[in-house]
Parts: sequence; C-alpha cells; structure tokens
Amino acid sequence: MTPYISVVIPIYNEQGNLLELHSRLIKTLEPLKKPYEIIFINDGSTDNSEHLLNTLFEKTPDETRVIHFNGNFGQHRAIMAGFERVRGEIIVTLDADLQNPPEEIPKLIHIIEQGYDSVGGIRRIRQDNLFRRYASKLNNKIRLKLTGIKMEDQGSMLRAYRRRVVDLMTQCEESALFIPALAYSLSSKPTEIEVSHDARLEGKSKYNFYRLMRLNFDLMTGFSLIPLQLFTFIGICVSLVSSLFVIYMLIRRLFVGPEAEGLFTLFAILYFLVGILLMGMGILGEYIGRIYQTVRRRPRYLIKEILEKPPC
Ligand code: UDP
Ligand code: MG
Repeated sequence: MTPYISVVIPIYNEQGNLLELHSRLIKTLEPLKKPYEIIFINDGSTDNSEHLLNTLFEKTPDETRVIHFNGNFGQHRAIMAGFERVRGEIIVTLDADLQNPPEEIPKLIHIIEQGYDSVGGIRRIRQDNLFRRYASKLNNKIRLKLTGIKMEDQGSMLRAYRRRVVDLMTQCEESALFIPALAYSLSSKPTEIEVSHDARLEGKSKYNFYRLMRLNFDLMTGFSLIPLQLFTFIGICVSLVSSLFVIYMLIRRLFVGPEAEGLFTLFAILYFLVGILLMGMGILGEYIGRIYQTVRRRPRYLIKEILEKPPC
C-alpha cells in the first residue's frame, strides 16, 4: 500500500534510543489507521545503530526503510536523503533521541490536514541545558532580524510538511542546508504549534559548540546577504568618521603645528579597524566557502546501502 504518512529520522550513534523510538512510533502510528512508512537515515554511526536498524527492518519490512550513509554528512543532509525518497503525502521529521515525543505526531498531521503546508513544533518547556536554551533564544531573535523568517522556534525538528513542500526542497541544490528555514521559505501556508520536549533518553547531544556555530552560519549565509551588507555599512561609517578625522588633523596641523603624541590612541584605532577588517574577511570567507562547495558539485551525501521493499 502506498504510504500516506512518511516519518523521516536521522540517526547518528543512537543505539540506546532506537528500540524505544521504534516501538513508541508504531504505538502512535498504528491507531491512525493510515498506511505509513518510517525512514531511518543512518548518518555514518560508529556504534551499534547500524545493526539495530537492520534488525528493525527485518522485523517490520513493510513499514521500515533504512538508508545507510557512507560516513557522517550531518543531520540536515541526512533528512534531505530521506526527503528525496519519501512516498507519503504528509512528511514528518523528528530526532531519534526522543527529545521530540513521537506521541505528538498526530497533532502535526491534523494541522496539515486542515490545509497548512508546513507546521513546526514550538518547544515550550525545553529540556536542554541553560546555555543551549539562552543561546537558542538569542539566536532565534538574530535569525528573525537577519533572514526575515518569522518562525518562533527554528531549532525544533519535530515538524510536518505537505509532500509538495518536500518536493520543492529536494530541488534546491545548495550543499549547506538548514531544513526548517528552507521549508519555511518554500511554504505558502506555514504555521507553528506548541509541542512538548523531553530530555534526551540516552547518550549525549551530537552538537558541540563548534558544530552549533557551523550550523548557524549555514542558516545565516543560506538565507541572507545582510551580514555582507552590514559589513559594507560599517565600512562606510568608519571611512566617513576617519575622513572627518583626517580633515581635523589637517586643519590642526595648519594652525597648531604637527603632533607626535597620541601614539597609542592611534594604535587603538588601528587595532579596531584591523579587527573589523578581519571580521569582514571572515564573513566573506563563509560565503565564498559555500560558493566553492556548491561549485564543486560534490554529492551532498554518499549512500552505502538501502534497505527497503520496492514501492507497490
Ligand atoms: N544527527 C545526525 N547526524 C549528525 C548529528 C546528529 O544524523 O551529524 C541526528 C541525531 O542522531 C539526532 C538528531 O540528529 O537524531 C539531533 O541530534 P542531537 O539530539 O544530538 O541534537 P540536539 O538535540 O542536541 O540539538
Ligand atoms: Mg537531541
């Protein structure tokens, strides 16, 4: 039977969560009485996840599909690999660590059935550490200003989409991906609802500070030129101020005479300007790096093996 619901889940070293995730998913999806599929994308796990996924496929081959990647390509590319293969009409994404309770899925499906083409879950009471919670709040604010994407919670991965939106997403070729923002920009009627959020069941978060930063750069550069424009603007302001400074020094020289002191003030100004320059080069580099990645046209991910039944 062609599935009506496709659930897409990226997996990176989640051995402690997989069995419970699978059983809670089935308990939630069965009562809906609609054909469904669960697509697991194993993003190069080095623990026992690969073996566990193979077992899950053997146990429920009609509802389960597994894509094993050749290495670790990142959560968003893994989700994209799932999107490229979905067979359902409504597509749901969630994390494997049970931070997104599978029991919330029917709520999301209901919203899509009401006519919205994408729905995001807002994590009301977040079960993450203090740093992540505040960093994420601040981030959501900056993103809103920079990208103009009016979403309250972009970090939440508990989301559902109409198939049309997912098909549009798979046509986008950029290699640096941030799925929720991309989906938002391609949806014609997006919305958000509150969902509950739990602590990670087993294991540790796969995002350290560096990975989080990279993900956020992907989001900013993927959806906005404002960082570049801001830099140009700062450059213009600084040159205006320094030209006034030059005029002042010129007049002073003519009427008061040369000045040799104030050497360290000059250093301070210089360091400030060099700092701005370096920052600007960094921002430029972020964009150029992404252009480079796109121009190289390497595949976004490599697949080792796919376990699935042919479509019927
Ligand atoms: N994940 C992935 N590839 C990665 C990192 C994470 O597929 O390189 C998956 C991970 O297994 C989980 C989801 O993405 O299902 C979210 O990861 P995590 O829970 O570590 O992120 P956090 O909740 O801390 O944002
Ligand atoms: Mg998590």
